Amino acid sequence: MRLVLLGPPGAGKGTQAQILVEAYGIPQLSTGDMLRAAIAAKTPLGLEAKAIVDRGDLVSDVIVSGIISDRMDEPDCAQGFILDGFPRTIAQADTLTHMLDRKGLHLNGVIEITADADVLVERIINRARESGGARADDNEEVLRKRLAVYAEQTAPLVNYYAERGLLRTVDGMKPVEEVTAAIQQALQ
Ligand code: ADP
Repeated sequence: MRLVLLGPPGAGKGTQAQILVEAYGIPQLSTGDMLRAAIAAKTPLGLEAKAIVDRGDLVSDVIVSGIISDRMDEPDCAQGFILDGFPRTIAQADTLTHMLDRKGLHLNGVIEITADADVLVERIINRARESGGARADDNEEVLRKRLAVYAEQTAPLVNYYAERGLLRTVDGMKPVEEVTAAIQQALQ
């Protein structure tokens, strides 16, 4: 099973990804987590990405495509994976299509998790409070920037994947278990 999770910050992609990891026995490939790990480890890539991530902008397509392609080649991805946070632009989606073609793979579906903008802000402010400020980009100002970047650069992927017959939309305002059930039903 090869999936993409699509949705604005705070929609619940990470939460659902963790549940699907258990359900399908395939790993979550989160570009956000990978970048945060690189930043924490102060690798050359992390040093380059830090300022960009901290202000809520997107790091370059070349960087994220490279880390995703390498990660897909690891043995635990043989049965599939859940992409979370990639692709985030039309250019990244085209890159993903070519990347999978080259590897002889295809996507089973793209799950769009929707949520109202005011709820997203509330959820992320709560996440920031509960995690004691673990993520430098989880503050209201940067969050508004991330939401704007999503609307401008990532939301067009909804049509992109709808046109390719891959899009399944679920309501992320429902309780976590209901969202999971809706995703699993959409994938049958
Ligand atoms: P969110 O909770 O906002 O969906 P993520 O954890 O997925 O955030 O990503 C955090 C940050 O990492 C983004 O704001 C961006 O700076 C960077 N990032 C993650 N994935 C990508 C990507 N595919 N392309 C460019 N930048 C990315």
